Amino acid sequence: VGNAVELTNRLLEDGISFAEVSKSGINMTELVAQLILRGTSIVNGIEKMFATIEGSCSLILLHEDGLYAARDKKGSTPLVIGQRENSFAVSSESCAFPNLGFEPIKYMEPGEILLLTESGLIEKRAGNGEKQICSFLWIYSGFPASSYEGINVEVVRENSGRALAKRDHDIQVDFVAGVPDSGIAHAIGYSMESGKPYRRPLVKYTPGYGRSYIPPNQETRDFIATMKLIPIKEIIKGNRIVVCEDSIVRGTQLKNSTVRKLWKAGAKEIHVRPACPPLMFPCCFNLSTRKTYELVARRAIRSLEGKEVQDLSPYLDPSTSKYQQMVNWIARDIDVTTLRYQHLDDLVQAIGLPREKLCLYCWNGQCPKSKEKVLGGVNEASSSLRVLAANE
Ligand code: SF4
Repeated sequence: VGNAVELTNRLLEDGISFAEVSKSGINMTELVAQLILRGTSIVNGIEKMFATIEGSCSLILLHEDGLYAARDKKGSTPLVIGQRENSFAVSSESCAFPNLGFEPIKYMEPGEILLLTESGLIEKRAGNGEKQICSFLWIYSGFPASSYEGINVEVVRENSGRALAKRDHDIQVDFVAGVPDSGIAHAIGYSMESGKPYRRPLVKYTPGYGRSYIPPNQETRDFIATMKLIPIKEIIKGNRIVVCEDSIVRGTQLKNSTVRKLWKAGAKEIHVRPACPPLMFPCCFNLSTRKTYELVARRAIRSLEGKEVQDLSPYLDPSTSKYQQMVNWIARDIDVTTLRYQHLDDLVQAIGLPREKLCLYCWNGQCPKSKEKVLGGVNEASSSLRVLAANE
């Protein structure tokens, strides 16, 4: 909720108090609940909340009528309904269903509100048809066994890896590897397309080891990243390796926790293939912890230009020399033999939804629901949300 401070102040002025306040502010769930309570009914309250917040919110609400499920008005986050005989379930991840005997029967539409009762599903508000779902779900943040809009994550990652391999005609390698866990399916796709074997030069300490992007501070992120991957020298030594990675954010973890370990274990060449284009913007819905100035692509541009630039468009187009200079700078910075990013068109094709149904803001600065491009210099999440609100 990008305008949380403004909404909180408004509610406080109206005499509302909040039960949970931490140093990061008001609990967002409580804020959303207070906004819903200001409606004349649950459905009216959810509609009002959707109209008031600048950001993204899908929710499930337990009530004496049953379970209300409401998908975010822009559909950036998913909700799916499952059925097992006469029982219904709702989840953001369809992977919750198979082991409980549920089948997904409906991917909810943006803005849609459903009530799940003992007698079945009741539509309380139809969807608004303006879908722009987060594409990062398929590239990185989603679970492999989940499907969004009926499209499975693992299959998309394989498609993405195949697309990366199709553009690699000028390198000779011995095998393909994926950075565990989210790079693995991209690497399997690359291996299937290229005919090169898939191997594991780095294994995870335990399958449940934490995700290194979740902790809010860099020190904890770095510690998790350093500890979680263990190199296998017998596989690495003397080999030319393609390494598929979901994305490169700051570049520090890839450099320190993956590339350095591979060089140290005797790799001959390291060719890194991120499954998405260079990240240029922090998530406009605050779904990521990254800041503009931290992004390795922005650091590269700052270094090449000697200042922040307002017009980023040459750096978004893989056919320009500026784009190539930026990629070369990053390759030197993370210390790899070659670096080649996924093209945005290939990413869209790997997912298989029409481009206009996807949020691609991280890479092209195009705000969901907005025709304007936000290709400015420093563009933090909160200012992105202000631009989004202004365009609406
Ligand atoms: S800005 Fe990026 S992370 Fe945020 S919803 Fe869009 S694609 Fe997903």
